[in-house]
This record gives sequence, C-alpha cells and structure tokens, in this order.
Amino acid sequence: MFGPPGSGKGTYASRLSVKLSLPHISTGDLVRDEVKNQTNMGKHINEFLVQGKLVPDTLICQLLQKRISQPDCANGFILDGFPRTIPQAQELEKISTTDLVINLDVPDEVIVERLSTRLICRNCAAVYNERTLKPRKEGRCDRCDGELYKREDDRPQVILERLEVYRKQTHPLLKHYQAKNLVRTVSNRQADVPPERIVEGIIQLIHNEAA
Ligand code: AMP
Repeated sequence: MFGPPGSGKGTYASRLSVKLSLPHISTGDLVRDEVKNQTNMGKHINEFLVQGKLVPDTLICQLLQKRISQPDCANGFILDGFPRTIPQAQELEKISTTDLVINLDVPDEVIVERLSTRLICRNCAAVYNERTLKPRKEGRCDRCDGELYKREDDRPQVILERLEVYRKQTHPLLKHYQAKNLVRTVSNRQADVPPERIVEGIIQLIHNEAA
C-alpha cells in the first residue's frame, strides 16, 4: 500500500488482510512497538518518530526482515508504509518479490483533516476517526475494547513535516515501480468515503491482475 501519511494505507490494509487472509505489516506499527517496549532500538528511533522524520533505512529494514521471516508470511503479505525510500525498495527486492503497488491518491486537505481527527487503538492499532469513522463506544475500540488515543505525530506541525518527507523521499519511488508496471492508482478525493467501498475497488483491481 503506497501513499502519503493519512491516505488510508493502514485502514485499507487491515481490511484487505482479513478478506485476503494475508498478514498486514505496518512498519509504523513495528516502530511504535519498539518504542512502547523500550528496547534499545526503540529509544534510538523515537526521536525520528516524534519529529515526523524517517527512521534510518538499515534499522527499518532490520525490523521488516525480522517480521517477514515469521511463518505467517510464507504465502505473502500486505506491506503498509514500506518501502519509503529507494534503498528500502532495493533491499526489499533482495528478500522478496512485489506483485502490485496500490497507490492511494488523496488531496492534502483531506489528509490534514483526517490525521488531525484520527484515533488509534492502543491495544490492536485499529484506526478510527472522530468525524468519519467513529467507534461504537466513545474512546474504546470496536474490536478489542482497547483505549483509543491520538498519535503524537498527528499534531499539525508534525503532519506538515511528514507530508514534506513523503514528497521528497517517498513519492519518487512511484517512478521506480511505474517502470516495472506495478502501480495501480486508487483515487479518493473526499474524506468520508466508507473504507469498505475503497477496499472493494482494490480487491477488484487485484482480481483483474490475476485474471
Ligand atoms: P506510519 O505509521 O506509517 O505513518 O509511520 C510512522 C513513523 O514511523 C514514520 O513517520 C517514520 O518515523 C517511521 N517509519 C515507518 N515506516 C518507515 C519506513 N519504511 N522508513 C522509515 N521510517 C518509517
């Protein structure tokens, strides 16, 4: 799943994961787990996370490699938030193959609106929104009843930095994948389109590829 922060990568990937029976791997979640567990790496990478900067390639590739070597990834997986730089894409090519890149095209104003009203489950990392995707019970996760919180990097100043980082370091990767004819773009110009509708569109795209 490819796209700027707040384009819905995690929201759609978690639903696709259930429908396609493939693990959803979010490198953002892997990073936040390291920070939460206060590992040595976690202490080091937190400074990048809170400033909206990218974690160094070698560290993020290490986390990804460890995760995809787990048995549940043997038949494939959905990546969310990786790769984000050309060296990461090159590293990925050494350890796996990429079947399709779903590029989420969402305008900046929708992104800023979405991220500033986003809520995350502290327990299972499910994504909600105060306006467009409310939980059934205020402040609690529908799936696991975990506490919902706002990510520290979803503050307006950090959102702008993350968008800038996306533009400079990640967006150029699209060309890399376009040259391999792997990119399929899904446009979502409004903030309140139900995620299920977008997910159906993505599944259709995947079926068309397989046909
Ligand atoms: P995300 O949850 O995908 O928005 O990621 C949150 C933060 O984790 C990013 O702003 C980066 O600091 C870090 N991060 C996640 N994935 C990567 C990656 N592939 N490369 C570098 N840093 C990453």
